[in-house]
Amino acid sequence: MRAKCLVSLARKLALSTYSTTGLTAEQLAIREMATAFAKNEITPFALDWDKDKFFPVETLRAAAALGLAAIYVREESGGAGLSRLDAALIFEALATGCPTVAAYLSIHNMCAWMIDAFGSDAQRERWLPRLARMQFLTSYCLTEPGCGSDAAALRTRAVTRGDSYFLTGEKQFISGAGAGGDEHLYLVMARTGAEGPSGISAFLIEGGSAGLKFGQNERKMGWNAQPTRAVIFDDCKAPAESMLGPEGRGFAMAMAALDGGRLNIGACSLGGAQAALDGALAYTKERKAFGRRLDKFQALQFRLADMATELEAARALLWRAASALDAGAEDAGRLCAMAKRVATDVGFSVADDALQLLGGYGYLCDYGLEKIVRDLRVHRILEGTN
Ligand SMILES: Cc1cc2nc3c(=O)[nH]c(=O)nc-3n(C[C@H](O)[C@H](O)[C@H](O)COP(=O)(O)OP(=O)(O)OC[C@H]3O[C@@H](n4cnc5c(N)ncnc54)[C@H](O)[C@@H]3O)c2cc1C
Repeated sequence: MRAKCLVSLARKLALSTYSTTGLTAEQLAIREMATAFAKNEITPFALDWDKDKFFPVETLRAAAALGLAAIYVREESGGAGLSRLDAALIFEALATGCPTVAAYLSIHNMCAWMIDAFGSDAQRERWLPRLARMQFLTSYCLTEPGCGSDAAALRTRAVTRGDSYFLTGEKQFISGAGAGGDEHLYLVMARTGAEGPSGISAFLIEGGSAGLKFGQNERKMGWNAQPTRAVIFDDCKAPAESMLGPEGRGFAMAMAALDGGRLNIGACSLGGAQAALDGALAYTKERKAFGRRLDKFQALQFRLADMATELEAARALLWRAASALDAGAEDAGRLCAMAKRVATDVGFSVADDALQLLGGYGYLCDYGLEKIVRDLRVHRILEGTN
């Protein structure tokens, strides 16, 4: 039984353990739309994209046509104007097809939101329509070879000469980097002032800029359906108007974007884990051992119930954090970090347990479970290590 069969069998048997209690009719419709997109446009191809290390840009553009590239960008700026909770539903649904593709879309949404929230009118007008339809892809460039968790120690420097900025330094692990050629926008945090967070500013650097180079596409454990490269600035020239927001506010803006990013990556973990759980449920209804179907063994029923319970608890915290961010609550940042930690840890362990329930077949690529485990592992590392 290949992965596609597992997922469709789970659907036929209506096995999903996902509770939708508390969602509005509009949210249910949004979730349904994203689920259908995942089922038709992502799931059937996800294993091949992983195997071939193929970044499905046309599929991403098809998602953009449904409003999924600027989900919480305001409508007057060309976005869908939806809430963070809506976004969490969307990313979870998309990740049931492929966590990697959903996670890249999350990063793109994060960059689009930063331009909407902090950009000038001219920057919003210039960039947001192109980002909303994904004519331009985006990358969020914060991490450097010498600093990840301690991002405020970054060393990439931007200096002014004449009416331009010139950037020198290197960013590491940049998702999506190098794809799209000139039609790619790099949102880069660089130092314009003294040491520490208040010396950092943000810049919008176009893919075709002189002095912009890329490292090789990294070989990775998972997340193969999107490239990860170093981005190198060698006296890279950017016009004065490429600074995003006020000078010295780059770090604060980057951290604000990560609140939403953490929710989204947590949602991607829930979606991947839900697909794994649904696949394991379907499998245990078919596989026999010792003369009985696996799902008739009470020990496995307890295990499946625990997996569903853990996921539901993580989802509840994630939705609470999303609502806090929507409400502009004082403790939203804290809740987003907590929800990210719980959702990505739980998501990984549920996916790993699901793999175990398939026995040796869980370890085979064709069944799709090992891909989910590989993809979800990195969610515990990025966007703030757990
Ligand atoms: C596939 C992939 C894609 C990524 N995409 C992007 C991207 O698009 N943009 C981007 O900017 N970055 C990206 N990253 C980078 C990612 O955000 C960093 O890897 C992450 O922030 C951790 O930084 P680090 O790797 O430098 O680890 P370090 O910060 O060096 O941490 C190493 C270990 O030490 C622990 N640690 C660090 N400080 C402390 C402390 N004070 N107390 C206790 N423990 C501590 C960490 O938790 C970790 O376990 C990506 C990474 C990967 C692997």
